[in-house]
Amino acid sequence: MHLKTLTLRGFKSFASATTLGFEPGITCVVGPNGSGKSNVVDALAWVMGEQGAKSLRGGSMEDVIFAGTSGRPPLGRAEVSLTIDNADGALPIDYAEVTISRTLFRNGGSEYAINGSSCRLLDIQELLSDTGMGREMHVIVGQGQLDAVLRATPDDRRGFIEEAAGVLKHRRRKEKAVRKLEAMQANLTRLTDLTSEIR
Ligand code: ATP
Repeated sequence: MHLKTLTLRGFKSFASATTLGFEPGITCVVGPNGSGKSNVVDALAWVMGEQGAKSLRGGSMEDVIFAGTSGRPPLGRAEVSLTIDNADGALPIDYAEVTISRTLFRNGGSEYAINGSSCRLLDIQELLSDTGMGREMHVIVGQGQLDAVLRATPDDRRGFIEEAAGVLKHRRRKEKAVRKLEAMQANLTRLTDLTSEIR
């Protein structure tokens, strides 16, 4: 499995559609200060489901949409698509090539898609979760983060190891199940109250 292409359209400084192609192995992105190198990394994190505006170096999620320049008006939406070579079947989906896409509209609406079919954020998270990619997988190490890892508490360090070992997916599922159980318990309590009122 490797990343094949990343297409940005209206994302941060990339107003026009821009596609970056990656070959297996190491890719270096070079350019002057402020030319958009970090925006490419932000786009990768964003299309894989990043939800925190701060992690994307913005104040709100809307900041990922091209804000306009002196010569070009702002755009109404940001779109990023990531195509992954899945010839080795590392992603649990029956396609040799998988494209995940995310779109955000200035009015707040957002869309996710896998190979052009609309899906939920959860579907993308689940698709990526056994590969070591995706949100919270520490697959993107930002400037200054290495220092944070070295200074992490033992609990935080255990968190990194659990995530790398693929425990995260099961922890999320457990949290979801516990939330459902709590809601069910609240319903049962309400039902018991109503039954005793009727009596
Ligand atoms: P450095 O080498 O200094 O770290 P860089 O190449 O990583 O720089 P980025 O941080 O990726 O640069 O890009 C910064 C540029 O992106 C700035 O010029 C900023 O104005 C522009 N930018 C960020 N968000 C938007 C947006 N929503 N609309 C338009 N331009 C944006």
